[in-house]
Amino acid sequence: MYKKLIFTLFILLITMSSCKETPQKYNSFNEYPVYEGNDLEYTYTPELTTFKLWSPEAEQVKVHIYETGLEGEKLCSVDMDYDGKGVWATSFDEDLKGKFYTFQILFEGKWLEESVGAYAKAVGVNGVRGAIIDFYETNPEGWENDKSPVLNNFNEISLYEVHVRDFSVSPTSGMKNKGKFLAFTEEGTVNDFGQSTGIDHLKELGITHVHLLPSFDYASIDETTLEKNVYNWGYDPANFNVPEGSYSTDPYDPISRIKEFKQMVQSLHKNGIRVIMDVVYNHTATWENHPFTRTVPDYYYRQNADGSYSNASGCGNETASERAMVRKYIVESLKYWVKEYHVDGFRFDLMAIHDITTMNEIRKAMNEIDPSIFIYGEGWTAGDSPLPYGERALKQHVNRMPGIAVFSDDIRDALKGSWANAKEPAFAAGYQGYDETIKFSAVAATDHDSIHYGLVKYVNFPYASSPSQVINYVSCHDDLCLVDKINYSSPYGATPIEKRKFNRLSQSIVFLSQGVPFIYAGEELMRNKKGVHNSYQSPDSINQIDWNFKKTNIDMYNYYKGLIQMRKAHPAFRMTNTSDIQRNLKFLNTYQQCVVAYTLEGSAVGDNWSRILVVHNGNRHNISLNIPQENWTVACNGEEVNPNGIFNWNQPVLNVPASSTMVLYKK
Ligand code: CA
Repeated sequence: MYKKLIFTLFILLITMSSCKETPQKYNSFNEYPVYEGNDLEYTYTPELTTFKLWSPEAEQVKVHIYETGLEGEKLCSVDMDYDGKGVWATSFDEDLKGKFYTFQILFEGKWLEESVGAYAKAVGVNGVRGAIIDFYETNPEGWENDKSPVLNNFNEISLYEVHVRDFSVSPTSGMKNKGKFLAFTEEGTVNDFGQSTGIDHLKELGITHVHLLPSFDYASIDETTLEKNVYNWGYDPANFNVPEGSYSTDPYDPISRIKEFKQMVQSLHKNGIRVIMDVVYNHTATWENHPFTRTVPDYYYRQNADGSYSNASGCGNETASERAMVRKYIVESLKYWVKEYHVDGFRFDLMAIHDITTMNEIRKAMNEIDPSIFIYGEGWTAGDSPLPYGERALKQHVNRMPGIAVFSDDIRDALKGSWANAKEPAFAAGYQGYDETIKFSAVAATDHDSIHYGLVKYVNFPYASSPSQVINYVSCHDDLCLVDKINYSSPYGATPIEKRKFNRLSQSIVFLSQGVPFIYAGEELMRNKKGVHNSYQSPDSINQIDWNFKKTNIDMYNYYKGLIQMRKAHPAFRMTNTSDIQRNLKFLNTYQQCVVAYTLEGSAVGDNWSRILVVHNGNRHNISLNIPQENWTVACNGEEVNPNGIFNWNQPVLNVPASSTMVLYKK
C-alpha cells in the first residue's frame, strides 16, 4: 500500500511537470521520424529508471508497473510523454529493480493489448512482461576477462550446428544440466562407455565454432510448464534481445537466462570455441500478438499491394528490413548480442527476406566492433516477397555483400540428392551428372577457368567473390540428416558398409573443399532422426544426440575428426582468396564420370605439404586414375585419415577404392 502511494505521487509529479507534444498522423511509414538514440525500452540506475517507447502514431502511451512477471498485482500505470519525434518517455526516481513492466498504446482510438516493448532486454516467464534489472548482476565471475579465441580469417572456421536441447538432453550425455545453456559449461562428462561427451567432445573433434539453433526468446514453448518437455527448434521469435527461458534453470527469474547464456559463451570461449547465433529477424511467431504490432502497428512488417501481410517466410508474416527503424532495430540487436553476450557471429535464417543494404550495414556495424565476427545466411526465401528481386540478400547476390557468406545448396544436393525428394541420390551414391558441381564446390563457388558453370546444379555462374563467402555442407537441422538421407536414397542393394562409404565421401568433400565447412551436430556419431525430415517439434527421442553412438560408430567419429584436424593443419585446404585458388588448385582430367581430382600447390600458400592430390571417386567400383608421378604419401584412403602416412605411392596410376576420397601429399 505504501509503495502504491509513492507511485501515485510520482505520477502526479511527472504529469504536472511535463509539457506535452501532440502526436500526428503520417502519410507513409517513410515519414515516420527515426530515433537516433539507443536507449529505447528503459535505462536503469538505482536512482532513476527512464522508460522510452518509439511509437510515432500512438495517441497515448502508458507504462504499467508490476510486482511479478506474470499475473499478480499492477503497482501503477503511468502516462508517458510524447517528444514530438516518435518517442514517448517517462521516469521514476525510485529504485525499480526487480519490478516488471509493460507498455500499452492508444491507437486509432483503441487501447491495444499490453506488451513488453520490442527492445526488451530482460523479461519474466514467457517474455510477456519486461523486467527491470541491473545488468551488472547478470555477469558471471570473470566475465570481464572473457575473450574470444583467436581467428585469423574466416577460412579457418569449421562450423558445428547444434540445438541447445539436443546437445545434452539424452540420458547418455552424462551432463547434469539437461537441455540447458549450462550444459555447455560441463567439462569431464562421459557417455555410458566412458567416452567424452559435451564440450570435451567438441574440443577433441576440433570444430572452431558452435552455431546454436535459435537461442533468443521464442514463443512455442510454454516456459511455465517445462516438465512437459515440449520440443521446438525455435524459429518463432518472441523477444529478439533476450535469451530463451526454457534453456535457463529458472525462466521466472529474469537474471537466470541472461547469466547462464553468458556462462555458456564463457565456457565455450575458454575451451577455444567461438559462438554463433542463429538469428531469425525475418519474421515473428505471430504478427498479431508481437510487441512489434502492439507498439507500432504494421510498421515492422511488409504488406502486399492490397494491404494484406506478405509471407516470404512461410510463417505468416515477414519483416521489412528496408524501413529505417526496422533496419536500425536489426543492426542494434546484433550489436547488443556481441557487446553484452560476446557472441562471435550470426547465421541469418531466410536471409534473402532482408535487403542487401541492410546486410551490408550489418557487416559494417560488425566491422566497427570486431571484423572477425562471421556473418552468413540462407541466401533464399521460403516464398515470394514484395521486396524486389534485385534487392534481396540472395545467394546469387552474395558478390554484392562482401564479408557475408551463404549456404551452398549446390554442394549439399549434388552430394546427397535433392532436399525435396528423399529418395533421390547423387554423387556420393555413384550417380552421374554432378561432377561439375563438385568441382564448383572445390573452388568455393568462385571463378575458376576449368569449370563449366552451365553444368552446376542450381546456378550458372560463380556467385562467390571470395572463398569465405560459401558454407559447404551436406546436412543441417532442416530436412533429412545424412544417415537418414543415405538410408532413403541409396541405390537398391547398397550394403551398410557402402552406406558408410557414402557418408565419409560426402563429408570428405565438405571438409576438403575451399570455403567454410559446416556439420550438423551428431553427424560425426552417425546420429539419425528415425527418418523424420522436419523434426522442428518432434520429441527428444527423435532430436537428441545419443552419445552412446560414439561407441558404435567410433570409426566414423575418428574419420570426421581426422578430416577436421587435417584441414586445420593445412592452409592449402582453406585458401583465403580467389586468385590463390585460381593459381594453386588445378583439376586433373579424369576421363571418367563421377570422379573429381585436383592438385593443390601447398608451398605457394605456406603449407608444409608442398603439393597435395585430392581424388573423390563417387563410383561404386574401384577406379584407376592417371596422376602426376611424385613421391606421394597417402594421408587418406577413404577409410581413415592419417597425416603421418598410410602408405607411399610413386607410380603414375593410382587405384582409388569405390565411393572414397583419397588425399596424397608430397613433403
Ligand atoms: Ca520463450
